[in-house]
Amino acid sequence: MGWLSDLVGAVVTVTAAVIDVAEKAKIEIVYAASKAWNNYQEKKSRERLSRIKEQARDELIEVNDELLSILHRRGGLSGVEKRRAELLYERRDELKNKIAGVDEVSVAREINESPDAFEKFIVNNDRAHILQGQVGVSVFGKQCPNCGRDMLIQWRRSVDTAKVSDFFWGCSGWYDTLPNGQRACSTTMRISESDMNIFARTDTPEYQVNNEELTELVMLPGPSSIVTERMNDVISDQRAQHRGAEDYRCPTHGEELVLRKKNQATSLLDQYFLGCPRWKPNNQGCGYMVKLKSAAQLSTLLKKETGAGVL
Ligand SMILES: [Zn+2]
Ligand SMILES: [Zn+2]
Repeated sequence: MGWLSDLVGAVVTVTAAVIDVAEKAKIEIVYAASKAWNNYQEKKSRERLSRIKEQARDELIEVNDELLSILHRRGGLSGVEKRRAELLYERRDELKNKIAGVDEVSVAREINESPDAFEKFIVNNDRAHILQGQVGVSVFGKQCPNCGRDMLIQWRRSVDTAKVSDFFWGCSGWYDTLPNGQRACSTTMRISESDMNIFARTDTPEYQVNNEELTELVMLPGPSSIVTERMNDVISDQRAQHRGAEDYRCPTHGEELVLRKKNQATSLLDQYFLGCPRWKPNNQGCGYMVKLKSAAQLSTLLKKETGAGVL
């Protein structure tokens, strides 16, 4: 855990949301954030956060390149190769933790700078989009009881405006395909009432309207074609700059996910997803993906990539 999550005893996501905070009052979280930010400044005042993150990100790519080349070698691994692979796995975990640590400090700084933009509340149907907007940006620190992978908040693709009762936890192992073609893990769990106690930034226009209104506004023909155009621009920009979406990362590889478009989509909410750059055809690579199947998720991605959400 890190600078802030240790202090609040809960999981912090990069969009500055904290879930499962039933036990904490807003003032306690704001206090913890300012403490975490001050602690960080005292200890690491000379290092810039963006620089630490950039270095860790570059090294992660090297580590994954080497690790995958060892693992994909034909025939069994030698003793030396096995030890090297173990070292690389360890280093990869360290780097992923380092990036998560930087993210937490950034969140602490953000809460510290504008505490009034944040609210602590219980997610209900009208505000379900505030939780949906966080989905995919980072995982929530919930681990699968069967395989230890990260759990993701999910809802059925057939619903445009998800209600709280549509949410469930699904294991990210669902996106890992075994050599026999089966899913590595398909564990699901109910969302608990305490998971719905969240602390999040709510001062954006998307969160001033209710869940259903946001879906309706975005799905109108005009706005929907503008959003489509902007999403396609993000895909081209990422390609041209050989980069992924900052803050959206694969839980296994730690690298930034890349925005992709489905060929035969049924609607805007079925069209875009973020996939791991280590993806390869025929289940040879990493199958981790985040489907952008709500207006709130499209808005969060666009805001991060372009500075403006959907409204
Ligand atoms: Zn699992
Ligand atoms: Zn991956």
